[in-house]
Amino acid sequence: MKYLEDMIRRYGEIEKGNILKVDSFLNHRMDPQVYKEIGKAFLRLFGDCEVTMILTIEASGIGIAAVTAQYFMVPAVFAKKSKTSNIGDDLYSAAVYSYTHRRSNTIVVSKKYLSTDDRVLIIDDFLANGQALMGLKSIVGQAGAELIGCGIVIEKGFQGGGRMLREQGIRVESLAIIDAMTENTVVFKK
Ligand code: 5GP
Repeated sequence: MKYLEDMIRRYGEIEKGNILKVDSFLNHRMDPQVYKEIGKAFLRLFGDCEVTMILTIEASGIGIAAVTAQYFMVPAVFAKKSKTSNIGDDLYSAAVYSYTHRRSNTIVVSKKYLSTDDRVLIIDDFLANGQALMGLKSIVGQAGAELIGCGIVIEKGFQGGGRMLREQGIRVESLAIIDAMTENTVVFKK
């Protein structure tokens, strides 16, 4: 998606450890035009798949999933990274290693909000090594729901998560795929 690539080129900041910061329009300050374009793009890609719910992981997936859910007119559910006291005990759970925080979390989703009848679109901001998506996929599997695919805003293609998931037969659609990153350049997949 050219619009997104232009935003990344213009406002993205490259940090140590192959981290791309897009805080000015996606991860901290949320630009409504960018969010709108993302929601519309996911609808163009998955709009004919009879999606019944959108699943993401806190925190940075939530805004993207909520806007996307408005285009699909279905609910969005986010996996929590800790078991809050009010969530109850009837939970699906999976272990996820966080690339940015360098620690493992158990993510949970209440069984009330995901069931065998659901056709699930997973949404996230970044795809790097694929740990977050693997955890979400496991939760969809535990519920006996159908995984329609994954919609990713920015895939770091050089980190292998996308390849691993596609090799498992999962449909992964990324709005921008980065082939390589140096200290001050981002190279997008053609
Ligand atoms: P994965 O589980 O695919 O290794 O990493 C995906 C998660 O890590 C995403 O949910 C995202 O929040 C975070 N992440 C991975 N790489 C980056 C990055 O370069 N920049 C930012 N802002 N987040 C990232």
